[in-house]
Amino acid sequence: MSDPFQQGLAEALPALRALKGDRGKAGASRTCLEALQLAKPRKPIRAIASAVSPASFKTLTPLREAALVCTKCPHLVASRKGVVFGAGNPSADLMFVGEAPGADEDEQGEPFVGPAGQLLTKIILAMGFTRDDIYISNVLKCRPDMTVGMTGNRKPTADEVEACLPWLERQIDLIRPKAIVALGATAVEGLMGLTEPMGNLRGRWLDFHEIPVMVTYHPSYLLHNQSISEKRKVWEDMLLVLERLGRPISAKQKSFFTVASK
Ligand code: SF4
Repeated sequence: MSDPFQQGLAEALPALRALKGDRGKAGASRTCLEALQLAKPRKPIRAIASAVSPASFKTLTPLREAALVCTKCPHLVASRKGVVFGAGNPSADLMFVGEAPGADEDEQGEPFVGPAGQLLTKIILAMGFTRDDIYISNVLKCRPDMTVGMTGNRKPTADEVEACLPWLERQIDLIRPKAIVALGATAVEGLMGLTEPMGNLRGRWLDFHEIPVMVTYHPSYLLHNQSISEKRKVWEDMLLVLERLGRPISAKQKSFFTVASK
């Protein structure tokens, strides 16, 4: 891209979309950008985004603001509608970590709002929480780009996860939940570098920065595998989480899955 104006436009648009909540409208007039240039911000937006280290942030709000204009993965910046930083209670005792935003999440800017997210919400409610009580995030904060004409989602690459992990690490360090639930193999691999089959990892307590991590299946797995035995495994994992958090477990919750599945 040889034209300096076009290059500046390409770099500024993702940040402008994130800052102004303009999710998905690709147009920005030359007049608008020239006006922005004349406004002479204290520091160019891209420089702020690339100069900061996630570890330098002391609270979640500025960390989120910086992540929303992150440009570390140019190919994802070009395809995303926005960065999906995470949502929920910044002082949550419980945090769920998934893989990456899908199309619905990219569109709405919130994690787990598609069909898998709706199932996760049901699990959260059955545990006695609301989505406002807990915190939800992903190991990758931008939607993995897809080949033109392809639908669905793709697994993040190792390079993408490595680039993005500092955001999540700082997020977790600032929230300091009492427990984390890692949803699916990509979350476990991203957080702890483990590549064992989920069958071996699920239901086990692991450790991330001295925070206990329960590994369970991603809700999308349950959407594709409707067997009662797999659903029961996830619910048993959630009961272990409640126990770890010191939450009372009602008789209804103990028998919830058995009753609900009849
Ligand atoms: S995936 Fe993460 S590191 Fe890459 S551009 Fe998005 S926020 Fe930045």
